[in-house]
Amino acid sequence: MSKNIPVISESKCSRCKASSCCTYITIAIDKPRDQHDFQNLLWQVAHEHVSVFKDDNGWFLLIDGRCEHLQPNGLCGIYETRPLACSEHSDENCEFGLEMEDMFNLYFPDYDSLLAHCKKKFKHWGEEEQPAKKKKKKSKSK
Ligand code: SF4
Ligand code: SF4
Repeated sequence: MSKNIPVISESKCSRCKASSCCTYITIAIDKPRDQHDFQNLLWQVAHEHVSVFKDDNGWFLLIDGRCEHLQPNGLCGIYETRPLACSEHSDENCEFGLEMEDMFNLYFPDYDSLLAHCKKKFKHWGEEEQPAKKKKKKSKSK
């Protein structure tokens, strides 16, 4: 005689011991276009716990920092009243089990990696960008 034992599939989150989505925030930023934009990004990424990435949705700052409500057991301490950003977050497309290169088109964890990108992207990196010259109007001599 066989018993009907319910099979409960283990959820992805229960296997995600680090609860990694609760250990950082991201901030969308404008696409950096010129040297000035990249200089600004260099300043930001030079700070501890700040990195920069680009994915299919655009450019982002990634700031590492564990949420104060994340419990040692990996559960949320305010689950019932957690912020919307948390309740709307789905494990369907989350980062669990993915490598950096699977998630990002570009990833700059620090100043040096971004600087190397800048030097490759801009032939004259570090040189002052000149404003476009205005054409002089020829004055007619009478
Ligand atoms: S949503 Fe993804 S990253 Fe967050 S706890 Fe669940 S499996 Fe881990
Ligand atoms: S509030 Fe809860 S779900 Fe949201 S980041 Fe913090 S620990 Fe995670």
